[in-house]
Amino acid sequence: MTAPPRLTALRARLVELGVDAMLVAGAANMRYLTGFPRVFDDGIDAAVLVSADRSAFHTDSRYIEAAETAATGTVWEIAGQRESVLEDALGQAAEWGAGTLAIEDSTTVARYRRLKKLFKGRLLVTEHVVEALRAVKDEAEVAAIERAAALTDLALEHVTGTLTPGMREIDISLALEVFMRSHGSEGLAFAPIVAGGPNSSRPHAGVTERAVRAGELLTMDIGARVDGYCADLTRTVVVGRADEEQRRVYEAVLAANEAALAAVRPGIGCADLDAVARGVLVERGLGERFGHGLGHGVGLVVHEMPSVGGRSRDVLVAGHVITIEPGAYVPGFGGVRIEDLVVVVEGGARKLSHSPKHLMEIG
Ligand code: ZN
Ligand code: ZN
Repeated sequence: MTAPPRLTALRARLVELGVDAMLVAGAANMRYLTGFPRVFDDGIDAAVLVSADRSAFHTDSRYIEAAETAATGTVWEIAGQRESVLEDALGQAAEWGAGTLAIEDSTTVARYRRLKKLFKGRLLVTEHVVEALRAVKDEAEVAAIERAAALTDLALEHVTGTLTPGMREIDISLALEVFMRSHGSEGLAFAPIVAGGPNSSRPHAGVTERAVRAGELLTMDIGARVDGYCADLTRTVVVGRADEEQRRVYEAVLAANEAALAAVRPGIGCADLDAVARGVLVERGLGERFGHGLGHGVGLVVHEMPSVGGRSRDVLVAGHVITIEPGAYVPGFGGVRIEDLVVVVEGGARKLSHSPKHLMEIG
């Protein structure tokens, strides 16, 4: 049986790193490498071991049936727990004759200490090995993200249509969640942000019981999840009529969003892309009001590689899926953020989110 492309790519990295095998225990990394559907959740205890010619998945009794089903017809060897999942995987590494073992930099200090004690060979802490592979999406991954993005667009359209002054942030948030989950979203990509009026000047405001009032900005940042893949979308609307200042800030953020979208292409540095959006806001006197980075990669995790900010050294390539999300936040006044999801393609970007972007005055 030939190895799937993701394993082949990882093995090429192991050769470059000069190690015999790699132990992977990050849930998203394991899900990516195995491709197993319906196995992973937040509570899983599992480990993946990959050498030049073997690949094994270790887990405990709670997940073993799902893992065996998922692995049928694949190159993956499934191992049930004997000692601990970690010790079992290390024992197998020794059986395979691995003298050097790569581990992830996300390994906790506690786990690292145990590994040092248990593994007789040399451990190499690596940086973002699987994460870097995950950054470039294949067609099936882009299709899953596109389905999640379409569902997110629909939820926003549906809930925006029901908005009225007096609705509480928590009710709006729940309505978005119920819509997404009842239309096929597996949980949510992240806890929604629904921030009205003065709360909207905090980019990652928690959802409160505050009721949104007529004439206020309302920012909604939400994402569905399909086949494990996340969407991420933000729109800011005005409940009631917008005033001149709201309109001015909104148009500035929209211009920054559009300028950055137009600049997305393979080969552009993420820091340069960030500078395109930031330059538009600086020109309009809002440079100081845009504190966070322009965006981030999206995949099995809502924030992943590449990093799309002023300090990033990442360079876009075809297959990256990223957000473009400039914002302007003015304490006491409120905030505006407009976030789109795109896939980098030859010569530019293809949008995955399609929610309208003109300033909507609702209710
Ligand atoms: Zn977002
Ligand atoms: Zn985002």
